[in-house]
Amino acid sequence: ESFQIIDIEVVVREVLGFLAKEAEYRSIEVLISVPEGFPKIECDRGKLQQVLLNIVNNAFSAIGSEGRLTIDVQKKNDQYWMVTLTDTGCGIPEKDLEMIFEPFFTKKAAQGGTGLGLSITYQLVEEAGGCIKVKSEIGKGTSFIVTLPFKPKNK
Ligand code: ADP
Ligand code: MG
Repeated sequence: ESFQIIDIEVVVREVLGFLAKEAEYRSIEVLISVPEGFPKIECDRGKLQQVLLNIVNNAFSAIGSEGRLTIDVQKKNDQYWMVTLTDTGCGIPEKDLEMIFEPFFTKKAAQGGTGLGLSITYQLVEEAGGCIKVKSEIGKGTSFIVTLPFKPKNK
């Protein structure tokens, strides 16, 4: 594993950079908020990108077109920070909420969904000593809340 000292805002913007064209043609507005002077984070940059990319990809497909994704970074306490990604997409039915982190659970089989994105994200977050939660309301949207340590646990 390789850890770097990273600026979370830079990493969030990198991930959205991969999807900027898609956001544009789908008319998805992306709002990023990171407090000024937010502490640097020590983590595996590629893994953090993967975690965020999987959630953002799902948000875009839940929105389809015309919507908003907000990405809000906050400090939880001295040891942990959190990022909340909220979309204005279709929402997740209550009965699916406990399934979405399972490998191969997908509602996008027809569109080539593998059902692996969130299971990988879940695993990466757990390995890093963090946790991931979801809140959703049908027809309104979904929030994923990822909590991670500022410094890796088992280093
Ligand atoms: P895939 O995207 O390949 O289907 P994921 O593991 O990324 O696999 O997601 C699993 C399922 O969880 C999706 O098929 C979708 O039904 C649901 N889901 C995930 N994120 C969202 C979201 N932001 N809004 C609505 N549904 C979602
Ligand atoms: Mg996915």
